Order: sequence, then structure tokens, then C-alpha cells
Amino acid sequence: MDLRALYMYAAVLALLLCSAATFIQSPTDVFGPVALLEPTPSSARDFGAVVSDAPFAILRPGSSADIALLLGALSSAPPRPRATVAARGVGHSLQGQAQARDGIVVETRSLPRSVAVVVAARAGGEATARAYADVGAGALWVEVLEECLKAGLAPLSWTDYLYLTVGGTLSNAGISGQAFKHGPQISNVLQLQVVTGNGEVVTCSRTKSPDLFFAVLGGLGQFGIITRARILLQEAPPKVRWVRAFYDSFETFTKDQELLISMPEQVDYVEGFMVLDEHSIHSSSIAFPARIDFSPDFGSNGKRKVYYCIEFAVHDFGSSVDNVVELVAGKMSHMRPHMYSVEVSYFDFLNRVRMEEESLRSQGLWDVPHPWLNMFVPKHGVAQLKDLLMDTVLAGYFQGAILVYPLLTDKWDRNTSAVIPSAPDGVMYIFSVLRSADPSRCGRGCVEEILEQHRRVADEACRVGGGIGAKQYLARQPTQAHWRSHFGPSWDRFLARKARYDPVRVLGPGQGIFPWTD
Ligand code: FAD
Repeated sequence: MDLRALYMYAAVLALLLCSAATFIQSPTDVFGPVALLEPTPSSARDFGAVVSDAPFAILRPGSSADIALLLGALSSAPPRPRATVAARGVGHSLQGQAQARDGIVVETRSLPRSVAVVVAARAGGEATARAYADVGAGALWVEVLEECLKAGLAPLSWTDYLYLTVGGTLSNAGISGQAFKHGPQISNVLQLQVVTGNGEVVTCSRTKSPDLFFAVLGGLGQFGIITRARILLQEAPPKVRWVRAFYDSFETFTKDQELLISMPEQVDYVEGFMVLDEHSIHSSSIAFPARIDFSPDFGSNGKRKVYYCIEFAVHDFGSSVDNVVELVAGKMSHMRPHMYSVEVSYFDFLNRVRMEEESLRSQGLWDVPHPWLNMFVPKHGVAQLKDLLMDTVLAGYFQGAILVYPLLTDKWDRNTSAVIPSAPDGVMYIFSVLRSADPSRCGRGCVEEILEQHRRVADEACRVGGGIGAKQYLARQPTQAHWRSHFGPSWDRFLARKARYDPVRVLGPGQGIFPWTD
């Protein structure tokens, strides 16, 4: 044992004795040569800021081997682990999913974050090359983008916000306006290195240990800690033509969104949002460098009028982008003349939410509670869900944005652990209710009320049999029964995978899927 480890044992020993000691008989026996640290305030905090569960220690691993030692030691004590472990990227979870009460938080940002871009000739003498990036799971997507752009390449599928870790988004799904075309981020991974709950380090792919590969993708941190990922790349455009068009009818808005996703040869990105008031036009347009002359009547005397905005983008490789935008726009039925278009660098386009973050930070509205609600809704239920939101979420205090855009279910691999609804015509929508609770207008009680309201909306939308048939995304379900219903027919597979890769249930306590009391 080296001196550093010895020192850390002394620091952690005191903590162990007064906290999670219930599950730990002998710290040295449990942790071997792995150095633990005292928890920091951030290990009990996340972006949602509605759950705060303090761990008794954190691990800043320098390698997969460090994680393997920890998990190997903890999992060798069936039937109960001696402590639970949560991987934490940058804690942009909403409900404590990356926390471990009285357990150990493994901070993946300390893993090597190198990004190696590889362009490999395809087997069989094919002319086209296949490009990929081997990245550390603790790397932020913005770091991956910066490195890949140096080689003129970029991943195919994104999240709207880039300051999230690779391991964190791959444990959920990772979606943005490119997902209709390329699938979610979990559909664009070639290989993973994973430390399973048993402490085994495994390199897996679609052909090598495929069950583990698919289990971990969208696996909510339940089966292993991802330490490296191989991400598919494509040629990056220097610029992007970014277009916004406004609508006064939800039906026309969704019809046009579906038109756009039926044109993957021309269109590279499709999203959309509800325009609730004057403020929502401006707050969503901070990064959109064009003057938007849209000041419609939002109604009065309790008669509210809501509008909608489609965002689409076309990659600009230097020719024909004007013709493409003209062709696409000519088929759309937006409110004329309310279509606005700008040309921005590819990096600025992908990094657009950063400007919104900076603006919110400057107003003191970033580090506040975020009671968000995200749902995948089959096409047949979208109008009903919109009405449900109008009657509930939008009927009272609302500060935030509601994103609405379509995705194609056949771009999602059903072997992964991610859950999406059954959508007979192959189209589902994401509805993201992204709320900030400004402490000057919404205190703790108000946040609780919002959470309760979202629970009721989710229960109604996700009700099995006769309901809308929606599935929540990024949510912590309140009970195991809710989780079972969330997974539906894939629950048994999820259980079997848990038994195989994390039989002692060390991993992912913050999701609340396998409480110790069950
Ligand atoms: P954390 O919050 O640290 O962890 C999330 C979960 O993954 C936890 O259960 C954790 O234990 C587990 N985990 C973390 N790292 C690993 C690992 N290496 N191996 C195994 N398990 C791991 N999502 C989208 O899909 N699209 C968006 O456009 C989008 N935009 C967002 C914008 C903002 C401002 C925020 C706050 C979130 C957004 N999200 C979006 C949600 C985001 O993808 C998830 O919250 C994601 O988990 C955040 O990554 P993280 O690194 O912060 O993960």
C-alpha cells in the first residue's frame, strides 16, 4: 500500500465509523488499495436541486482498474453490498440519480479524458473510411467536439447542451434534433469499456459481449460504469443554416415537423418549441443571431393563445444550401412571413445552449431547482398531451420552456435498456417541460407542488391501457412498481441483466430501482 492510500484510509476511516458503518465491517478489507476521499458538497447536489443525498466518500479514479478494485471488493459480500456506488459525470441529473446516500460516488471526470480520433479503412477494400473517436467516459461532449473538429469530423448525434459527460448521456439515451436522422447517441456507439458491478473490466460491442453492451446503453448506471466509449464520426460541416418558422396551429406545426423528418437527405436537424409569450420568443433566441419580428396576440381575459416554432438546420458544405432551404421551406405551411434564417459556424450551432446558460447564470436563474418533466409520446397521443399540459402545467405559474419534436422509433435499438413507447406508425415525440424555479417567486413548497403536478401528468400520460401510452425520459420513478410499469415487457430482461452484471446491487442507488428494503 502506498503512502497516499494510507493517508486516505486515515481520513476516510473516521467517516466510515460514523456513517455507513452499518454495512462495512473492515474498511481495509473492503477497499484494498483504492483511495477514497471525503465527500464534497457537489457529490450531494445535481442540476435538479430537489434531492440531496450525501455519500460517505468519493472516489476519483485514475483508471478503470481503480473502479474494478472498488466494485470487486464491494460486490464480494452477497447478499448485500457493503456500500452502494453511483457513477457521477457532472451531476446534470434531475432527481438524485447520480447520488449515493451513505455510499460512494465515483467521479468519472477524473478518468483519463483523452479523445483519440481514428480514421480506419473499411474491411474488404471499400472506398469509404469509417471514422470514430475513442473517448474517456468522463469527457464532456464539448471536449469531444473540439477534438474531433481538429480533424474536420464530429459525432452524428448530440444533446442540446454539450456540458454533459459521455458516460452520463449514454446511460440515458442522448437526444437532440439530429436523432430523427441518426438515432439517439446510444445508437451511434461502436464499443464500450465497462467495469461491471462485479468488478470485471470488459470491452464490449454489438458482436463482443453484446448483452453487456446493450444493457449498459440507456442502462441508468445499473450494470456497470462506462470508462471508455468508441463514438461514430462523420464529416463536420464548416457552417450550418439554422431556420425558425412560426405557427398558430399545433396540428400544422406537427404536420410540418413530420414533413421535415421525412426528408433526411436534405434536413440535418429538427426541433421545435411552444411559444407561450413574448418572453419565450426572446429567451429561446439568445443564441439565434437574427432579429425576430414576431409579436402576435397572446390573448387576454383568460383566453390564452399559444404559438409554436419549428427549428430546422441544414449542414452547409459550401454549395446548394440556399436551394435546399428554399425547397424545404416551399413545402412548409408556417405563418408567412414568419420564417427566419441565419448562418452560423457548426460549433456555435451545437453549442447554442451555452449562451442561454450564461444569460440564466447572470440573472441568478441557473443554480435554482429545476423540476423538469420529459416524456416520449406516441404520435397518436401528441394533441392529447399538449391539451393535458395546457390544462395543468400551463394553467398556473410557469417559468421555462417546452420543447416538442418528433423522433423515429426505428432508429432506436430495442436491445438497449432505453425505454420508448410503442408507436404503431413509427413516430414518437419528445415533450420536454424545462422549468426553473426562481426562488423569488417559487420557494420549496412551490417546487413540491410542481413536482406533484408533474407526477399527476406523468401518471395520466403513462397510464397503461387506454391512456396516451407515453414513457418518461430521465425520470426517477417513485417506487419499484412504477419502474416495473415503466419497463413494461422489458422489465424481466432488465432484472436478468441486473442479476448477471450487478448481482449484489451495488450500482446506481440514486435511480431507486432496487431499494435495499425490497
Ligand atoms: P450524471 O448526472 O452525472 O449521471 C446520470 C446518470 O448516469 C446517473 O444515474 C449516473 O450514475 C449514471 N452515470 C454517469 N456516468 C456514468 C458512467 N460513466 N457509467 C455508468 N453510469 C454513469 N439529455 C438529452 O438527452 N438531450 C438533451 O438535449 C439534454 N439537455 C440537457 C440540458 C441540461 C441543461 C441538462 C441539465 C440536462 C440535459 N439532458 C439532456 C439530460 C442529460 O443527458 C442527463 O442528465 C445526463 O445524465 C447528464 O450527464 P451527466 O454527466 O451530468 O450525468
